[in-house]
Amino acid sequence: MADRRRRPAKSKKLTPMMRQYTRIKAEFPDTILFFRMGDFYEMFGDDAKVASDVLGIALTSREKGEKAVPMAGVPYHAADSYLARLIKAGLNVAVCDQTEDPAKAKGIVKREVVRVITPGTVYEENIVPADSNVYLASVCRAGEWLGVAYADVSTGEFAVDRIPHDRLLAELNRLTPREILFHREQNEVEKALHKEFASVDSVSLVPLDAADFDPSVLAAELAKLFDTEADTLEGKAWLGAACGLYAYLNRTQRGNLGQFRSIRDNALSETLAIDSRSLRNLEILSSISGGRKLSLRGVCDYTSTAMGSRMLRQWLAGPLTDIEHIRFRQQAVESFSDDTKLRSALIAEIKGMCDVERVTARAAAARANPRDLAALRTSLEKVKVLSGLLEAAPYPLDEFGSRLDHMPQLLAVLNETIVDDPPVHVGDGQLVRDGVNEELDKLRDIMSGGKTWIAQYQRTEGKRAGIPKLKVGYNSVFGYYIEVTKTHVDKVPEDYIRKQTLVNAERYITPELKEYENRVLSAREQIEQIESTIFRETRDKVARETSALYRLAELLASLDVLAGFSRLAEEKSFCIPEVHDGIETELIDCRHPVVEDNLPSGEFVPNDTRMDREKLIHIITGPNMSGKSTYIRQVAQAVILAQAGAPVPAAKASVGLVNRLLTRIGAGDDLARGRSTFMVEMLETAEILASATPRSLIILDEVGRGTSTFDGLSLAWAITEYIHDTRTCNARTLFATHYHELTELASVKDSVQNYKVLVREWEDEIVFLHRIEPGFSDRSYGIHVGRLANLPDEVIKRADKILRSLEKQSLDIEGKPRNVQMRKGHKQKEVQLLLFESPHEHILDKIRDCEPEKLTPLEALEYITRLKRELEE
Ligand code: ATP
Repeated sequence: MADRRRRPAKSKKLTPMMRQYTRIKAEFPDTILFFRMGDFYEMFGDDAKVASDVLGIALTSREKGEKAVPMAGVPYHAADSYLARLIKAGLNVAVCDQTEDPAKAKGIVKREVVRVITPGTVYEENIVPADSNVYLASVCRAGEWLGVAYADVSTGEFAVDRIPHDRLLAELNRLTPREILFHREQNEVEKALHKEFASVDSVSLVPLDAADFDPSVLAAELAKLFDTEADTLEGKAWLGAACGLYAYLNRTQRGNLGQFRSIRDNALSETLAIDSRSLRNLEILSSISGGRKLSLRGVCDYTSTAMGSRMLRQWLAGPLTDIEHIRFRQQAVESFSDDTKLRSALIAEIKGMCDVERVTARAAAARANPRDLAALRTSLEKVKVLSGLLEAAPYPLDEFGSRLDHMPQLLAVLNETIVDDPPVHVGDGQLVRDGVNEELDKLRDIMSGGKTWIAQYQRTEGKRAGIPKLKVGYNSVFGYYIEVTKTHVDKVPEDYIRKQTLVNAERYITPELKEYENRVLSAREQIEQIESTIFRETRDKVARETSALYRLAELLASLDVLAGFSRLAEEKSFCIPEVHDGIETELIDCRHPVVEDNLPSGEFVPNDTRMDREKLIHIITGPNMSGKSTYIRQVAQAVILAQAGAPVPAAKASVGLVNRLLTRIGAGDDLARGRSTFMVEMLETAEILASATPRSLIILDEVGRGTSTFDGLSLAWAITEYIHDTRTCNARTLFATHYHELTELASVKDSVQNYKVLVREWEDEIVFLHRIEPGFSDRSYGIHVGRLANLPDEVIKRADKILRSLEKQSLDIEGKPRNVQMRKGHKQKEVQLLLFESPHEHILDKIRDCEPEKLTPLEALEYITRLKRELEE
């Protein structure tokens, strides 16, 4: 009781502002509260301590003594860079702004949280990368399916799909969202997400309550946001996930969701499935070391805008599976290549455009500034020129031309309203053109008439006081003043009121000058108000065109990528492949564009690949460092490019559509998730075998290396057999290996073919030729590579000796490598027996071959004695 009585007394001690702070902070307990005070965002209490730690800013204190509260602040104008660091550190920030003019506030100024910034909902221009999306994803179980929804606050994309449970992690890894929302009562989803992402710093997992995923509460709101009927959403497996996404967005954006205009269904199903591991290992979007430059995207990006660069990223991460669509893109690329003048004209126009997609999203969310609108106007002018150019071009560019809408009405509004070169913020200079608003023009006259008035006043006062050097001036602290140098102060008239003393002069004000000042200040204020209203109205007009502007942005981005593809083909000698729905795949003189780019010109050796029913599984052997990995990766990259509608790095190419690209490349343990290197390898392989179909492409760069030779070889052998023999799998496969024994599979399996990388041995040295040819290699030259890597001489010599002795042991009695006696037609059982024959198999063979009836008793005795001796040896 006593406690309860004391508490109100304690809170009474707080100043009204700190009471307001405490009330707001209580609503956002798990976020850092940026509390706007004048030109600063201040943080208090624990927030201040955390922020000063993360940001390295000074921790001060509000009030002194017992009432002291820790405090830290960042300047309002530089808030973005501090925000970026807090978000990167995995913190959420609630931005609390002053929502009324402090000058007009009665009592404490009103403040409200205008937005909660979380890793998946940032849009600040200097925080989000221009060429990548920042996704927020949501997952919710729906019967046998999982609903997935994702959105990008900075572009207004809102996409949904339903997927089988086993595809969840692959799809999320492909999207690389910064934040994943899930239903806190769906334990198996939570478990899977935790296992995969809990140790990944760049991903935050956010549990939400059941109510957030409940369509009976939220479907109507969702339908309203997308201007559709609620019953069109009924029964969709992704509805729960979409509701969760909507609920979270609504909360963090405080209901400000204007940038979201349409919902895209089937967002994950229409594309070639490439799991994130493959994207990473094949270095499609970024290199293993993390940079973009040494990735497929890096070398193929000939786009001229950030919109185009983001689109290219999406196309490479999700190539098409629809031939018509691929053909459409290819034809557009070919048309650009046929008319390079048109291509240059397009690039010239498109280069000067703004990021229409992001500017639109900002306008729709009422965040666009005057410069954004001016940039949009310039872009629409350019679209007008561009659509004219393309309408006269051949198919399919003419289609782009007719779909490009430069929105004449909106353009006219922007032209008539906004000055040519507006300031970034309202109030920082003239923003609205003369002639738009009568009242505004009048006020401007007062302001400009002011200059004449001041000059006149200065002359009159100078004469009246008899001070020729009397000056009228203005500064932002003291306002207008009359300045008189110290030598003339005795002449100052009586009605002058002293305002400020300088070293050599005195400054005064008169009632007349004060009245003038009031008039000007009020005119300035009114001008700012009118301009601000007109600006908001204009921005709203842009926001009303959000859907059309998004469509425009998509067309511009696509054109940018397609024109870039055409330049890529020309500048790097790529060709447009034939894409068909068979499985035959032929790449002539194909290259790995990243490796090629990093070798001196002409040093890269192109190779051919032919895959069909008979040559379905390629076993590729060859020395270390000879180019096996490069070769199998280049085939996968060519398929991705082909299905993205891009040209491929080959002289000639024909690609049978692939539905899933599955890779097992590289080794690395995942200790945080309790998986050893070998376990990771096996998990990946299991996933491949479970999801491959006869339309898939499997790339295996060694399997089974992380265990004992016999274990590894047995697994590699059985895995290859499984791919070959299982009707539902039976996929095109490139398998690079140092298990030379695997090449024996070609003798017994119809669709297995051996390829080797050629080397030339020369005076104890070997020369890598990097050329792939039919055949198999029985040496790895690993010791040679060890020598190249400067292993100590004695290690190399000793290894050489051991190798020779091991090689001797692996020869059979006739001096042939083991197992090569197998031929096609042998039964499975025999193959397996032969693969792991006992070390005494040759003796058993002799017994099998011997015909006792033809031996004399003495010969038989001698024969047994000889076998016994061999056995003992
Ligand atoms: P390991 O078996 O040791 O993994 P590998 O046979 O897979 O080796 P890669 O890693 O593909 O060999 O290639 C090694 C190096 O050889 C590459 O980094 C590249 O510099 C060069 N190389 C590979 N292919 C070619 C090629 N076709 N033309 C020219 N140089 C090549």
